[in-house]
Amino acid sequence: MPSLLAPSALLPSGWARDVRIDIAPDGTIAAVSPGVTRQLGDRVERISGPVVPGMTNLHSHAFQRAMAGRAEKRRDPADSFWTWREAMYRAADAVGPDELSAIATYLFIEMLKAGYTTVGEFHYLHNDRDGTPFADPAEMSARLVHAAASVGAALTVLPVLYMRAGFDDAPLEPAQRRFAADEERLLAILESLRWHGRDSTTLRVGVAPHSLRAVPVEVVRQVASALPEDTSIHIHVAEQMREVEDCIAATGARPVELLMAEAPVGPDWCLIHATHIGQDELSDIAASGAVAGLCPITEANLGDGVFPLGEFLTAGGRFGIGSDSNAALNPWEELRLLEYGQRLVHGRRCLSLHEDATGSVGSALWRAALAGGATALGQPTGVIAPGFRADLLVLDRDRLVQPDAEADDILDAAIFGGSALPVRDVMVAGLWRVTAGHHAQEAQARAAFVAALRRMTT
Ligand SMILES: [Zn+2]
Repeated sequence: MPSLLAPSALLPSGWARDVRIDIAPDGTIAAVSPGVTRQLGDRVERISGPVVPGMTNLHSHAFQRAMAGRAEKRRDPADSFWTWREAMYRAADAVGPDELSAIATYLFIEMLKAGYTTVGEFHYLHNDRDGTPFADPAEMSARLVHAAASVGAALTVLPVLYMRAGFDDAPLEPAQRRFAADEERLLAILESLRWHGRDSTTLRVGVAPHSLRAVPVEVVRQVASALPEDTSIHIHVAEQMREVEDCIAATGARPVELLMAEAPVGPDWCLIHATHIGQDELSDIAASGAVAGLCPITEANLGDGVFPLGEFLTAGGRFGIGSDSNAALNPWEELRLLEYGQRLVHGRRCLSLHEDATGSVGSALWRAALAGGATALGQPTGVIAPGFRADLLVLDRDRLVQPDAEADDILDAAIFGGSALPVRDVMVAGLWRVTAGHHAQEAQARAAFVAALRRMTT
């Protein structure tokens, strides 16, 4: 059984010094002992820097990484989320199974290097280019499963239900045929994924009704009610004002209001974005125990709006972070932007806390996002304690703007003072996947990624 000796580590009770972490053969943490200053007998690996739990990325669309940096020209004076969506549909059209494998493999390596050890793939690129299903209905989902396994990232794959083009029940547009999946197709995908994931200890499978726009709320309710308990259910909701207005016009209710009234939303649910919500909706989400899945870089990139985080935390709400469109892969930057959005809206500072709380904002953000992310993806991660998976980051003091920072000051420096990624080594399920900032497969994966992008653009 390998053992690590860290100069300091973020434990559930807070930061501790001289922490020995024993790891069991199955990749879980067997024991944690703070205050160990003497090496006792057996082989102990000395860790070079502060250790924190690896972050969960609760919302990613892997294929969208292919268009990062390529949708930043104004082609229409009314450029918006909706014109971006057209560009995204064009990118999706060029992604076949081999392209998805190459994009996801390199993407998951980039995520590991940034400090994400578990990723949630909200996956809707199910069908072949002409809209027909592949022989294996889970062909594309399985490419994500194998990509994550090959580079050592933990994954919750969330196959998406996608049934219509809008609240008016309009049929899918031609560009949306690759996403088509009704309840029957979803069940076939889930069944096939059971086979693809049979050997994996780091894979979970959930489901994701794409949005109330793409799936009638009655179907959301039926599917959620038929699933085994503890299944993670994710849904995009209230990301754009036009979506809120269309929902009101069609149903008389706002999207979060409708979802909370008509579906069994509870702690296994993750509401992605939930940007445009009133105080009642905010309180209802918090009371349900559902996690708000916040994606600040993508929400800024797409002009979505700013989630009312301080009010939500004061109401007892839980949140995690996601890289969504994968415009950038950096949990430190996601959390920095999350807090800065609050400051810009309210003209005050240090707002990502319960209104009565004081203390380190960096630490509060990291810890809350760990807890919310692990819950949302149904994964035993985010905590350095016995029984949890050994998903750990070793931070690099040479990359911290405050090299002598201790305890919560480390996370404040990493999140708010960062210009370089502060991560040196990354362990997932007890195995080192990134050492000294490098992943063993990165050169080969980069070459395959570049080749896939070139195939897609020619
Ligand atoms: Zn999304």
